[in-house]
Amino acid sequence: MIPGADEYGIDLTIADGAVEELLDVTPDDVSPAGELSFARNVFVPLTTACRYTCTYCTYFDPPGEATLMSPEEVRDVCRTGADAGCTEALFTFGDDPDDRYEAVHAQLDEWGHDSIHDYLRRVCGIALEEGLLPHANPGDQTREEMARVADLNASMGVMLETTADVGAHAGPRAKNPGQRLNTIRNAGELGVPFTTGILIGIGDDWADRAESLLAIREMHGRYGHVQEVIVQPVAENERWRGPTPSVDDLRRAVAMARYCLPDSVSVQVPPNLAPAREVVDCGIDDLGGVSPVTDDHINPDYAWPALRELRDIADGAGVPLRERLPVYERYLPGDLRPAGFDGDPAPGDWLSDRVRAALTAGDGAGERYRAVLRGESLAAD
Ligand code: SF4
Repeated sequence: MIPGADEYGIDLTIADGAVEELLDVTPDDVSPAGELSFARNVFVPLTTACRYTCTYCTYFDPPGEATLMSPEEVRDVCRTGADAGCTEALFTFGDDPDDRYEAVHAQLDEWGHDSIHDYLRRVCGIALEEGLLPHANPGDQTREEMARVADLNASMGVMLETTADVGAHAGPRAKNPGQRLNTIRNAGELGVPFTTGILIGIGDDWADRAESLLAIREMHGRYGHVQEVIVQPVAENERWRGPTPSVDDLRRAVAMARYCLPDSVSVQVPPNLAPAREVVDCGIDDLGGVSPVTDDHINPDYAWPALRELRDIADGAGVPLRERLPVYERYLPGDLRPAGFDGDPAPGDWLSDRVRAALTAGDGAGERYRAVLRGESLAAD
C-alpha cells in the first residue's frame, strides 16, 4: 500500500507483475526520440517558505528567512523574460507555508490574500498581462486550491518523486506520497495538462521507482492529463548527505520511464540537473526549460549559453531541437495546433478561455506563442 493512499482516498493497485516487468527493462529496450524539445522560461521563485524539510532540498528557507516576491517583483521578472523571448512563467514554490511562517502570512494579509494559493492567482494574472503563460508548481494542492488558479495556467506540475516512504522525507513535517497522488488526481479531474516526475536516489529502491512510474501511468490512464514525466537524480548539495545516482542508474531509470509510459507522454531529463547527453539514447524527448534571464544580465541578441548547450545535446544525438510552449501541442484545440502536428491529440477540452485568449491575441505575446507553434522561434537565435 502506498503511504498516505488511504488517507487521501487514492484507489491505486500496482500489480507485482507490472513492477517485475519494469525491473527487467534496460536502455537496450527503448529507442531514441526523433527530436528534442524545450521551453523558454523565466523562473519566478514566488516563495521559499515550505512546511516540509526534505533533507536533499536547498530551496526552502526556515521561518524568518523565507522570501516572498511582491507583485511588482513578479511583474519585473515576467516583463524581462517576455522581452527576452520567453513564453513561460515557471512559478516555483515551497509547499504551503505553515503557521511557523508568520512574516509570510502577515505580508500576504497586508496584500489582501488569505493564502499563498490566493496570491498565486494574482501573480498568474500578472504573468499573462506581461506576455507569459503561467506554469505553476505550488506543491501539494487541494482540489479547491488548484481550481482557484487552474484557468490562469497553461499547465501545472508537481513532482511525485516517489511512492515510497523514504527517510529523506521523514521527520515531523514529512512529505506524503498519497497527498502528491491526490494533487495529480486533482489536476486530472480539473482537466489541467500536468507535469510530474520521479526523483531518484533519495532512499528509493528499484521497485519503488518502478511503482512510482506505474502509479503515474495509472493516473494518466484515468485522466489523460500527464504531458511529461521528469526523471531527475538527487543532486549533491550542502544539505544532502547521501550519495547521488550513477549515470548507469539514471540511464536505467530513464529507460524504465520511456518503456512504461505511452509514447505521447514526454520523458524529460533537465540538463542542468543531470547528464542529459548520457541519456539521449534512452528515450528522452524533452530537455525542460531554459531560462535566458539571470539576476544581473540579459542580452536578447546574444545566443544564451544554456540554449547553445541544448543545441549541442541535440546535435550530438543527431536530432533536431524544437521549442515548445509550456502546454504540449496535443493539449491544444485543433485550430491552434501547428499545421504539421502528427501526434496523438488528447481528447477533451484542456485550455481555459483565458489561456486561449492569450494564444490567439493579436499582441506581441500572441505572435510569439504562435511563432513557437509554427516552429519559427529558433531561427531568430
Ligand atoms: S517540499 Fe519541495 S521545497 Fe519543500 S523541502 Fe521538500 S523539496 Fe524542498
